[in-house]
Amino acid sequence: MTKLIETDVIVIGGGMTGAGVLRDLAARGVKAVLVERGDLGSGTSTRNHGLLHSGCRYVVRDEDAAIESYHENLILKKTLPGAIDETGGLYVKVPGDDDDYVKLWVEANRKVGIPVEEIPVAKALEMEPFLSKDIEAAFLTPDGALDPFVMVVDIVADAVSRGAKVLTYHKAVKILKSQNRVTGAVVQNSITGEEIEIRAKMVVNSAGPWSGQVASLAEVPLHMINNRGMLVIFAHRFNKHGIFRLRKPGDAEAFIPTRNVTLFGTTGINTDDPDDTSLDRQEMIGMLREGMPLVPKIFEMRLIRAFSGNRPLYQENGADDPSGRNVTRGMALLDHQNRDGLEGFITITGGKLTTFRYMAEKTVDLVCEKLGVSAKCTTHEEVVPHRDAKEFFKTVDMAPAAKNKIRQWAGLRAKSIEETMKKEKVNTPICECEQVTWAEAESVIPENEGFNIEGIRRRTRLGMGPCQGTFCNFRMAAVAVEKGITSAKEASRELYHSVMERKKGMGVVATGETAKQLQMMEAIYRISLGLRQEAEAHV
Ligand SMILES: Cc1cc2nc3c(=O)[nH]c(=O)nc-3n(C[C@H](O)[C@H](O)[C@H](O)COP(=O)(O)OP(=O)(O)OC[C@H]3O[C@@H](n4cnc5c(N)ncnc54)[C@H](O)[C@@H]3O)c2cc1C
Repeated sequence: MTKLIETDVIVIGGGMTGAGVLRDLAARGVKAVLVERGDLGSGTSTRNHGLLHSGCRYVVRDEDAAIESYHENLILKKTLPGAIDETGGLYVKVPGDDDDYVKLWVEANRKVGIPVEEIPVAKALEMEPFLSKDIEAAFLTPDGALDPFVMVVDIVADAVSRGAKVLTYHKAVKILKSQNRVTGAVVQNSITGEEIEIRAKMVVNSAGPWSGQVASLAEVPLHMINNRGMLVIFAHRFNKHGIFRLRKPGDAEAFIPTRNVTLFGTTGINTDDPDDTSLDRQEMIGMLREGMPLVPKIFEMRLIRAFSGNRPLYQENGADDPSGRNVTRGMALLDHQNRDGLEGFITITGGKLTTFRYMAEKTVDLVCEKLGVSAKCTTHEEVVPHRDAKEFFKTVDMAPAAKNKIRQWAGLRAKSIEETMKKEKVNTPICECEQVTWAEAESVIPENEGFNIEGIRRRTRLGMGPCQGTFCNFRMAAVAVEKGITSAKEASRELYHSVMERKKGMGVVATGETAKQLQMMEAIYRISLGLRQEAEAHV
């Protein structure tokens, strides 16, 4: 028999947009269930630059998007301390860049109130020694870096602590309707195949690049302009500020420092398939060449991997622009009652990570208006508690509230922290590059999701360093089997999946040290451990 859940609102999609909507609903006392077909943040929300935009980048072309970004930049710096790094930005003009554009850019920032400050070239070079000695002008800006892996978990954990429900690894497969009204959705457990019927007064579609697919479940036409962008990761963090090329926005012009590494990109190519995260070596080489005028030693620095994601862009009546560059980065809030005559169905898409909170506020304003709820948004002033597993495990004498919080988090294993801490080798890192201990990794293995190394990676940074999981992935799998958390079969399948994912990103950048690393990974997994595709076939 199909299981039944009743709620007020179903939020489809557990990226930053859905997470923000869920938290805002919970903060206003509206009952909500978020359904996500994979892990939290497994879509575009963790496949980007991680730039906390100041608005500078779009200020000449899209004033509204720039103002929206700057406003949110200031709010997120105040309310998301665990996920934001206030690096500041440095916009740099190199020989050949258009002087008139620089004047236009300075004036446009002044007009909308984004503070930019020109500094002497010598000072910029002192601050950022990897910059080209030929640069002609430099401006400090209020850009920053955000860690989307942390952000999505902190936001959802806060929503859960306020009573919201989360079903990860549950895909919306049907939108239920009665005449011209949405009445709920059917979701399917991606692991067991079990279906759950969720009855609700409203459904919010926040499925990012998949929004068109979700809208089609409700028989509503929605054409997304999905735009694939590729990025590379350098093995170390060589810049203090976000470094940007001061020219009309184009490809490959931002170096964003985040945690221990620097991200560089990106490209933009429209794609029909929201699951297209393909990587192309020529595209990457072209990108690196574009980066040379800013950072001349770019080809000599070690790259650890490449990845790509799809920008969920939307423009009413479409846009004839194969690069997607001229499609607005502003958000699209679609009330399908007005647009298509279907009550109780809303789509929120477009926008950026930086503006997720604002997108959620506007969406929940609309939901509340329809449900007759008068509570106002508070997310612009309420600080999001940061849930840092490493800190939790280092602090022996934790406040009971903090312990409860970690136990509550989305159905995590209900083991007591003390019990875990007593275990042997609890503080020995199993991932040396990112200093992830077994205790930390174990604390983020959810109860009902099966053993998933990529999920553990997203939550702890396991395997994200220069060795890309060469040593820690098999340790993780072996310890999990030894401790009875998973079977040898499941561990092999997961190991295979994770190693393939790492190899995909490393293969495209593999020269020098990374090529050697890849060969060592191949030797360990293929030759010593005999990991083969059959690992998938067994299951
Ligand atoms: C290359 C690149 C660089 C970028 N850089 C930046 C940047 O530096 N700063 C910035 O602010 N923004 C940046 N962006 C934009 C930003 O990443 C996106 O706007 C944002 O992540 C979109 O979040 P989302 O939650 O709407 O979509 P997603 O994160 O894609 O979330 C949608 C979720 O819906 C789930 N889903 C799909 N179908 C179903 C279903 N049927 N049932 C249940 N769940 C479903 C998916 O699994 C997915 O997790 C960048 C984007 C790209 C591609």
